[in-house]
Amino acid sequence: MNPSEIATLGLAAYLVVVALLLGSFINMAADRLPRHESLVHPRSHCRSCGRVLNLVDLIPVAGYLVRGGRCASCRTAIGASSPAVEALCGAAMVASVALLGPWWGAVAGFVAVGAIGVAGVSLGFRASMRESRQG
Ligand SMILES: [Zn+2]
Repeated sequence: MNPSEIATLGLAAYLVVVALLLGSFINMAADRLPRHESLVHPRSHCRSCGRVLNLVDLIPVAGYLVRGGRCASCRTAIGASSPAVEALCGAAMVASVALLGPWWGAVAGFVAVGAIGVAGVSLGFRASMRESRQG
């Protein structure tokens, strides 16, 4: 591999990590916005026991797998939609970069991640409307 190929690969890896982190942010937004909660405060925590999530919990997809899909303290199930949204964002970026190269792929990838974000947050609003009708 020549240096420019290594740089391209590094850029692609960076883009995928950013897409995964955006997926994680989308989950939080989809969870908090319908409840009229702030996106920055408090720190991410378990909805059942209030444990503040640490670095391991916050790693997209891998954190979910390491914890077996459950909170590390109270064992409440986290729900498969969180790693699914993160994986979808990562996969969208991988596909875009593979098809279009790092520059246009990045543009297309971020557009795709944005679309996933809009869809995810609106699904979150729908879920919270169902909850409030039942409760
Ligand atoms: Zn918990």
